[in-house]
Amino acid sequence: MRENSKKKAENLKKSEQGGKNLKNPLINLEKISKQYNLADGFVLKDVSLSLEESEFVALLGPSGSGKSTLLHIAGLLDTPSEGDIVFRGKSVGKMSDDAKTSLRLNEIGFVYQYHHLLQEFTALENVMLPQLICGISKKIAEEKAKNLLVSMNLSEKFASYPSELSGGQKQRVAIARALANDPSLLLADEPTGNLDPETALLVFEDLVDIMQKRKMSAIIATHNLELAKKMQHKYFIFEGSLLEK
Ligand code: ADP
Ligand code: MG
Repeated sequence: MRENSKKKAENLKKSEQGGKNLKNPLINLEKISKQYNLADGFVLKDVSLSLEESEFVALLGPSGSGKSTLLHIAGLLDTPSEGDIVFRGKSVGKMSDDAKTSLRLNEIGFVYQYHHLLQEFTALENVMLPQLICGISKKIAEEKAKNLLVSMNLSEKFASYPSELSGGQKQRVAIARALANDPSLLLADEPTGNLDPETALLVFEDLVDIMQKRKMSAIIATHNLELAKKMQHKYFIFEGSLLEK
């Protein structure tokens, strides 16, 4: 009897997590709902998602379905209307703004569809900057930035300015920059959405490769089902709900 109820509880837990048996969750999105304006409906409704360390998943869904909204909430850039985010077992809803900022700077990296590189800085400097902001010495920041740029196949482009780089190269720098502070979680919002299909595939493959090597977790929003197939799990947002594909 006791065994039975234990099993039931385990099964319930599994079904709440999309059938996954989580050992070591890095981040739990717990029943997240988001409504931007009272006049509008809910963009997200009771969305739950757990990510283990080293797990990377794709977030699919048509334009306007709420992918960016979910990534902004997971990245603590926006707050949910209901629900909570639990990062390494700690409720973000109960954290001070300072604690949230520190968590965001140290644990989370972002890549957007547009690179947002600083035009007046070289590729190397763009990757060094987030580290310098966090108080890391120039020497260490430079060494790490060089390693990251080499991993993203940009060993020849340290001194290039964004205007001297191709679209794919700029996204590679943006990825290196997002990884500069060794985040445990990468959130990427259509990171190859502006690139031609061939370049998108090459950049995406290097992104998956570097994530695997660094044992990172990631949520990557993409329109591209082919690219999503390279991820461990695929989730689809439909009418505010998250479904595993
Ligand atoms: P996706 O990234 O999948 O294209 P978004 O998360 O950007 O979708 O948008 C989901 C819905 O939320 C859309 O209907 C969009 O208009 C709305 N939305 C997004 N951001 C805001 C905002 N800041 N204020 C009001 N509505 C918003
Ligand atoms: Mg979007």
